Amino acid sequence: MIAHAAIPTAAVLEGAPLIEFDAVSATYGTGKARTEALQPTTLKVEKGDFVALVGPSGCGKSTILKLVAELMKPTSGHIFFAGRELGANPVRVGMAFQASTLLPWKTIRANVMLPLKIVRPFRESYRANKNGAYRERVDALLEHVGLIDFADSYPWQLSGGMQQRANLCRALVHDPDLLLLDEPFGALDQFTREELWSTMQDLWMERRSTVLLVTHDLREAAYLASRICVMSPRPGRILEDRTVPFARPRHLGLTFEPDFTALVQDLREKIVRTPTGKAARGGGHE
Ligand code: ADP
Repeated sequence: MIAHAAIPTAAVLEGAPLIEFDAVSATYGTGKARTEALQPTTLKVEKGDFVALVGPSGCGKSTILKLVAELMKPTSGHIFFAGRELGANPVRVGMAFQASTLLPWKTIRANVMLPLKIVRPFRESYRANKNGAYRERVDALLEHVGLIDFADSYPWQLSGGMQQRANLCRALVHDPDLLLLDEPFGALDQFTREELWSTMQDLWMERRSTVLLVTHDLREAAYLASRICVMSPRPGRILEDRTVPFARPRHLGLTFEPDFTALVQDLREKIVRTPTGKAARGGGHE
């Protein structure tokens, strides 16, 4: 078990999902440079959901994460967090990307500690705690993912897979309301990636974080997620919102079972067979 004190998370208005997209569209640029990235999209994510976004490259998956993280504003529509318009209250977000973005001059422990130094409500008590409870908190997380013996190492002394483990710890250490993962295992070899799936699943089962995962790996989506949203080519929209029925904890053997491979094949066909936006409107291939 990971020892961590209960931290108040966002109070969800009764009956409200944790995240709600109400006809949200998004565009980049203006005039000739205008790119319509997302068609009006409706999406609900409940607290504790693990939702994977899959679809062809450029269909707007990362745009959805940027909107949720308030890194860009919708062109139209509304986003609600815990029943209130996004922006009304601070949202504690944890993020992990394909590149681990660990700071090379800091040890693994110091890297994982970083959000506690920066993010409310931790930062107020960081100084008082840094050699006490916060260190325990960080070390418990490192222990959980098998990195405790590398706490005093620097990122460049670790393999890519170990760096991504540390990266996941850093994304989770401040108990985020929401964990946003954008191809976090995309740069790893297949074996390491599958090991990381198991680590991610353990962390999720322990903490029941609300996760939005962007991935192009359909097996990864089917292994990790509780729901998979399949998106159309740009401008993206959600074509299908699937519940993943497999019991947890899931093991690698599952990925060879007929139900699993059938789901992955079905998702693949859905993505490959959906014409691009222009072709769908009768304009040929983009
Ligand atoms: P995905 O994550 O599905 O690959 P993105 O959400 O990154 O797709 O991008 C959706 C579309 O918006 C793509 O066509 C991409 O080229 C375009 N896009 C993304 N970011 C920008 C940007 N900063 N400026 C202009 N166009 C962008």
